Amino acid sequence: MRVRRDTGMGGRMEDCIFCKIIRGDIPVARVYEDDLVIAIEDIAPVAPLHLLIMPKKHIANSLDLQPEDDALIGHIFRVAATIAREKGVAADGFRIVNNNNAGAGQSVFHVHFHFLAGRHLTWPPG
Ligand code: 5GP
Repeated sequence: MRVRRDTGMGGRMEDCIFCKIIRGDIPVARVYEDDLVIAIEDIAPVAPLHLLIMPKKHIANSLDLQPEDDALIGHIFRVAATIAREKGVAADGFRIVNNNNAGAGQSVFHVHFHFLAGRHLTWPPG
């Protein structure tokens, strides 16, 4: 069986839950969407505002990023800033978290950035 480079530890791209959401196979409200990324509410929020910002392109995690993805990742951070302003949480503070591999808590192997806001966020994270 041919092994695809772009599937990471998450198995086949066709089975990726976030790809299904991006394709519209699983209906989810989109907090933000453009040609490159979507932002959705996390199904199990750990903060009053807990969003997931992800590229539409399937990339398993940060370890699989290529030079051509540099602008995409920069774009995601600018989208996060836009959302922070629109949601009125920019001044109080927000956190962007990207877990890589199971030891760091990654459970979905399609690269995504948790956007956390709406409560005091302690440091260091657990
Ligand atoms: P990770 O653990 O990989 O850093 O983050 C994955 C996140 O995706 C988790 O916070 C989890 O709650 C969320 N999640 C998993 N499946 C779904 C889903 O089907 N819909 C939504 N909206 N979030 C999901």
